[in-house]
Amino acid sequence: MQRQIEELKQEFEKILQKVKDSDTLEKIRVRYLGRKGEINRLFKELSKLGIDEKRIMGNEINKLKQLITNRVEKLRTELQSKPKADYEPLLPGRTVYVGHQHPLSRVFKEIVAFFKDYGFALKTGPEIEFDWYNFEALNIPKHHPARDMFSSLYIRKDLMLRSHTSPIQIRVMEKQKPPIKIICPGRCYRYDPFDASHSPVFHQVEALYVDEGVSFGELKWLLKEFVCYMFGPKTRYELRPSYFPFTEPSGELAVSCPVCGGDGCTVCGNTGWLEMLGCGMVHPQVLKNVKISPRKYSGYALGMGVERVAMIKYVIDDIRIFYNNDLRFLEQF
Ligand SMILES: [Zn+2]
Repeated sequence: MQRQIEELKQEFEKILQKVKDSDTLEKIRVRYLGRKGEINRLFKELSKLGIDEKRIMGNEINKLKQLITNRVEKLRTELQSKPKADYEPLLPGRTVYVGHQHPLSRVFKEIVAFFKDYGFALKTGPEIEFDWYNFEALNIPKHHPARDMFSSLYIRKDLMLRSHTSPIQIRVMEKQKPPIKIICPGRCYRYDPFDASHSPVFHQVEALYVDEGVSFGELKWLLKEFVCYMFGPKTRYELRPSYFPFTEPSGELAVSCPVCGGDGCTVCGNTGWLEMLGCGMVHPQVLKNVKISPRKYSGYALGMGVERVAMIKYVIDDIRIFYNNDLRFLEQF
């Protein structure tokens, strides 16, 4: 019995040395002093002994119990008063990490700033949109195959997450008479796979100018100004015919590949060009839909993906890297 008490004492001392926090200490207290703990187990074994021995050993166990109680209490007080980390006055201070804008936010703001400088007013709209604003008013009726281009995410039959920012244009044109000169930035949703060039959530900026006598030439001039502003004056660009249901004629703007400078590489698919934005003259039917006379007024519209512009500007070949929150990438900006 004497040996058991002695062993238990040594074991306790050894374990206690390793305790660094209050939770562990509490577990140890329960292990020794709890109702089913080591001390009570020893007390139970006393019954096996003779009367004299019982008295002596009982005394010994009580002493050990007292010792354990005292040591646990003392350590508990020490742990509570101890500062969390060791204070070392000679260590260099910790660097305060200063964050900065995400590359997407930066490009987003650059695009918006350009159009604001050219007199476009900022307009926003809801991210959940009616079929009328997302499609119908934009000259994409229910049966129209162009709806396939927009891989929409429906909430109800006539309600969806907007697949482009064009609904904002309709909302503004319904309320306001020309001249209308607006820029509509925002988040858009499509059920595209999340791969190197697609994301189900992405950002768009669209511009619209409707007034008397607005011409395609003005649109071309603005695009040239924009390319120079965004990618530098040496960037070459190309305007190609395209198709959108809400513009006629429609065009697509491509800029020379920043990786190969136009010679052809894997990034540009050996074409030397990267498509950047869609544009065109607002379709007369769209103007009619918002009760603006296409006989009196004309307008141009253009739209671009913010991710796309950022990928061309910073030579990034995978869209997913924008959303990974990987500091090794983000710190390069
Ligand atoms: Zn290239």
